[in-house]
Amino acid sequence: MSRCQGIVPPYLLDSVAQRCEGEVAARAALTLRLEQSMRAQRQVRAARPSPPSPRPAAEGIVPPHLRSRLGEPTTLRGPRPPARPQSAEGQAEKTSPATPHRLVHDAQQGSTLPGRRARTEGEPPVADESVNEAYDGLGDTWRLLHEVYGRDSLDGEGLPLVASVHYERGYDNAFWNGEQMVFGDGDGVIFASFTDSVDVIGHELAHGLTQYTSGLIYLAQAGALNESISDVFGVLTAQYTAGQTAHEADWLIGAKLFCPGVKGVALRSMKAPGTAYDDPRLGKDPQPAHMRDYQDLPHDDTGDNGGVHVNSGIPNHAFYRFATALGGHAWERAGQVWYDTITRRMPKDADFATFAAVTVTAARDRYGDGDVLDALRASWDAVGVRPAPPARG
Ligand SMILES: [Zn+2]
Repeated sequence: MSRCQGIVPPYLLDSVAQRCEGEVAARAALTLRLEQSMRAQRQVRAARPSPPSPRPAAEGIVPPHLRSRLGEPTTLRGPRPPARPQSAEGQAEKTSPATPHRLVHDAQQGSTLPGRRARTEGEPPVADESVNEAYDGLGDTWRLLHEVYGRDSLDGEGLPLVASVHYERGYDNAFWNGEQMVFGDGDGVIFASFTDSVDVIGHELAHGLTQYTSGLIYLAQAGALNESISDVFGVLTAQYTAGQTAHEADWLIGAKLFCPGVKGVALRSMKAPGTAYDDPRLGKDPQPAHMRDYQDLPHDDTGDNGGVHVNSGIPNHAFYRFATALGGHAWERAGQVWYDTITRRMPKDADFATFAAVTVTAARDRYGDGDVLDALRASWDAVGVRPAPPARG
């Protein structure tokens, strides 16, 4: 299954590649090409009966237990690595459970990952702003998970957070590749730097969270839920960091991603899906906010894996309605129900109705019958999703 989950969907990059000219079109085309080849490589690995452990990291900075997970399906009850990860120097980690363990690298406009070590946990800020933004964004995401939900990193076991900035030249995306974060600098005309939005960093790390929890596949409704969960924890990271209430927040994903001159406010809007941008070079935001506008797209690259970045607008809007109906801080009750949901067992190919049913069970278990459950049911109803447990058989 694809693990190159970029914040910018392929149809948007394709639009830039087709409708822009010169360097800008070339950067978008290169981004698309590299992502397709990364996906193809992973599919080849996944198809092998006993794949050898891939070695993506030249310096061995990526912990071995992470490498072994490349191309393998993850499960809730999957085997856990017996030992703590090792640092680059080969010393056993002594990381306290109460601190993140960040490793930010500079890919130096190349494609070798992770690249040159630029800033590690506890080191002071460096001259490169992208390095510091990535370092801070990784920390913000770790703090939301730890301080609010009591989870130590993506795997719940202190997984080091590895990132590389300045990937390729003018690369038009940020992505989670199954083991680390990767950030491009953007082409500078349509897309600005990808380290500048904390919700983008939170979104990408949440793909790692999904990998270690629900394991939802990246296809059709399950894929749209995978995308939506990343948007939810992305905005929660931004809101928690800023101390905003649900009513103060903008509910936008990637509000700082577009360069001046682009007709749009962000990549996506959870408050009003389908209204984030409308630009001659990008087209119009295609996200629906209701099941009646669900887009049944081809289950391949050209169809965005069945519209995973498109139909995510529906569960996104349900979460927005839920959080704003409850009021206060979205990460508290609304976020808690979503966190409880993804850490429960559910089919990896869960559809919206199945996922909604798990949210209802999770909400009842934690808050009982009452306001929270009522608000949740009303929110799913408002987007046309009827919670239904999976059929037995
Ligand atoms: Zn994503």
